Amino acid sequence: RRKPSRKGSMADVPKDLLDQIKELERLFSVDQAKLKEVTEHFVGELEKGLSVEGGSIPMNPTWVMGYPDGYETGTFLALDMGGTNLRVCEIILGEEKGEFEIIQSKYRMPDELKSGDSEELWEYIADCLQQFIEYHHEVEDLEQMDSKLPLGFTFSFPATQDFIDHGVLQRWTKGFDISGVEGKDVAPLFEAALEKRKLPVRLSALINDTTGTLIASHYTDDTMQIGCIFGTGCNAAYMENCGSVPKIAHYNLPPDMPIAINCEYGAFDNELVVLPRTPFDVIIDNDSPRPGQQAFEKMIAGLYLGELFRLVLVDLHDNKCGLFEGQDISKLRKAYSLDASFLSFIEEDPFENLSETAELFARELSLKGSKPELELCRRLAELIGTRAARLSACGVAAICKKKKIESCHVGADGSVFNKYPHFKVRGAQALREILDWPKGKRDPVDIRAAEDGSGVGAALIAALTIKRVKAGNL
Ligand code: BGC
Ligand code: MG
Repeated sequence: RRKPSRKGSMADVPKDLLDQIKELERLFSVDQAKLKEVTEHFVGELEKGLSVEGGSIPMNPTWVMGYPDGYETGTFLALDMGGTNLRVCEIILGEEKGEFEIIQSKYRMPDELKSGDSEELWEYIADCLQQFIEYHHEVEDLEQMDSKLPLGFTFSFPATQDFIDHGVLQRWTKGFDISGVEGKDVAPLFEAALEKRKLPVRLSALINDTTGTLIASHYTDDTMQIGCIFGTGCNAAYMENCGSVPKIAHYNLPPDMPIAINCEYGAFDNELVVLPRTPFDVIIDNDSPRPGQQAFEKMIAGLYLGELFRLVLVDLHDNKCGLFEGQDISKLRKAYSLDASFLSFIEEDPFENLSETAELFARELSLKGSKPELELCRRLAELIGTRAARLSACGVAAICKKKKIESCHVGADGSVFNKYPHFKVRGAQALREILDWPKGKRDPVDIRAAEDGSGVGAALIAALTIKRVKAGNL
């Protein structure tokens, strides 16, 4: 007997709910023509970002001048300041080509820190670093060390860099809102906290997670040409030629010298020219600590997926078809109470009767959904997850078009890429639609799981920097 299809189950959905579903499909679908239009505009914006005048995508030069050759050696610390965790790693790059060892510890990033003040942030980070070092090294060894341990600091926010070990925070993203840091060089702020604790550590490189991902991925697979993050935020880095970056022309670098560019393309289309925003995207933006910024990121990154879903449900309850009618939806009214894993869970519910979804709503929101209501919720999760994956592909496609890359591997990391169901397949499908690849052949541009950019990548970049300083190239 044929398994009942999704369509079949939709047949039980009453007309008013079906109309709502149709409307949501209209709002959240991005067809092939739109994907192409977004990508075309994207290519031009990448170009603008490299110009002297600049555009809305920052296209930050990172001063990572090329890839490692695999023979970097030494012991390095890496610090990864993410949205949820703070990770400290010690990486030993061995003598053999591409060989490394890593030990690491994770510390929680308390939510209060994200909207606290600058000093608290750096103190907390330095405390974690100190704990890690004291745990993994004998005090006497530390006292006898004649040189400080080089550290690669993965600071995954847009920063203007004149030197690889400095960076002026352009603006906070991903909901961070710590006063007194925007417009400042974060290196001395961080170093002051190290100094206070007399830690035997020297900041060698300040890097972005995408740059780390690019470098670490290329280290083990030299067909990797783009590093991206689909996580709490979204962004990508790739290798450019200095000659194609007019805004660094005054450094008089050799035109064919490679330089990694951190696109910061979460800021794509802040002018709102092409993005198919819905009224819910507008609310997300208005209620965020930085309205008008990160337009692209706010439609696709993990931080916002659950919130979009929540906003739609509240709207349906209050203004439309009376979803969850007569029930107390106060838990659902709490902003950012649902994260992307809530949607993942619904999309992964294996049961036709949506019993796990029903339990989830009861457990997390004290809501009882009828079968048709839960069908609507599932369709909505699918729509939001699919839109995120499809729009994400536009950024990758735009870099390929800009660089005339016909085939390559793309190293991707981040919670959405690694955990959100169907994200990879949906993204690959969108790439096919944008780049008009023939059916049935292997995809020329293949987005794959990356190496650990913020750990190994940060260590490699620190190593590359030290090599360059020794060679007098900086
Ligand atoms: C940040 C980028 C980062 C990305 C992924 C964005 O919000 O601005 O620097 O690479 O998130 O973590
Ligand atoms: Mg991260």
